[in-house]
Amino acid sequence: MTKLLMGSFQLMKSLNRSLILNMIRSEGPISRAEIAKKTSLTPPTVSNLVKELIDTDIVMESNQGESRGGRKPTMLVINAKNFYIIGVDVGPSSIYSVLTNLNATVLDSVKINLTSSMTNGKLLEVLSDSIRQLFQRNAKIDQERMIGIGVAMHGIVDVENGISLYAPILQLRDVPIKEHLENEFKMAVKVENDARAMALGEAWFGNGRKTDEFVCVNVGEGIGAGIIINGKLYHGDDYLAGEIGHMTIDINGPKCSCGNYGCLQALAAGPFIAERMKKEIAMGQESLITEMAGGELGLITGELIYDAAVKGDQLSQRVLDETGRYLGIGLTNLIHTVNPKKVIMGGGVSKAGHFILDSIKKTIEQRGLTIQAKSTEITASKLGDQAAAIGGVALLLVELFATRSAE
Ligand SMILES: [Zn+2]
Repeated sequence: MTKLLMGSFQLMKSLNRSLILNMIRSEGPISRAEIAKKTSLTPPTVSNLVKELIDTDIVMESNQGESRGGRKPTMLVINAKNFYIIGVDVGPSSIYSVLTNLNATVLDSVKINLTSSMTNGKLLEVLSDSIRQLFQRNAKIDQERMIGIGVAMHGIVDVENGISLYAPILQLRDVPIKEHLENEFKMAVKVENDARAMALGEAWFGNGRKTDEFVCVNVGEGIGAGIIINGKLYHGDDYLAGEIGHMTIDINGPKCSCGNYGCLQALAAGPFIAERMKKEIAMGQESLITEMAGGELGLITGELIYDAAVKGDQLSQRVLDETGRYLGIGLTNLIHTVNPKKVIMGGGVSKAGHFILDSIKKTIEQRGLTIQAKSTEITASKLGDQAAAIGGVALLLVELFATRSAE
């Protein structure tokens, strides 16, 4: 079984059917003749390669072609519902795994909360457990139709070796995620930083479609960004690109988990917004939220602040507005560095809707260097809470549909 599992993935990849496969994915339904015209391959070559693809079942014929006089051409489409991918979002407080088809339609999901004291071994154990549960619950799925597992891991990730180099909130280093999962599940495993995986998910299925230059910013318990340049993820020399959470916004600001002061993350990530709110109330500010939290300041969360803001609580609205200003300053720096066409906001904080988004936009308008910079489109993620897990799925799709020029 082991060999077969690697087989279905390798087979589709290795036979340089990628060019055709990718064309069917992006332009399908498409006929053999059209593929030949667009790829400049000869019709017999296209026919042979298409036959191989149909044999693996990843491509199927559908009869939707329009006739231009004469017989209707047979059209080709991707058999997306017949193959599966597992996407995993490893956050600082929980692991969320989804089983999807190639259209990233979520068929099943498992969420497991992490305990506060994590070790490398424990994290890998929970990770395996969540994936195992998905397999057990969907045992009727033919294992040969599993393409692989894509893991969106928070913190800094060595993408080549699939190692979590540093997860600051959990205080873990050098977790061999890829090696561990490949050993256990005997299938292709890809690991990527969560914000970058999210960007890929948005590029394939969300608000980043048809945009070659954009940035996806994940604002949750931490803050990170995935940068897409020329339609591809940008990693930098050592996988640090996009770590905007540790961009200094205020050198006199609060201490960050990284040890520096005034990082964007220490001013605008979820837990820090709640901290600011608690401080304001402790200093005597009045707010609806005191009552909403039943007088327990410890129960104040970003979500509760949002709920209070919706109910018209002015202190909550002010705290969210301030958060948007910090984010806006960070994003202006990012816009001036990368010059994206749009910025997609994902993660818990981005759910605070217009309270934060309006303030982000206003700040960028005030600070942008040019009219274009000032008017950079800022939009919320279309994939919501599933963005990172879907990003994990996209990691495998990128491999599967990679266009290889050699061969
Ligand atoms: Zn920091």
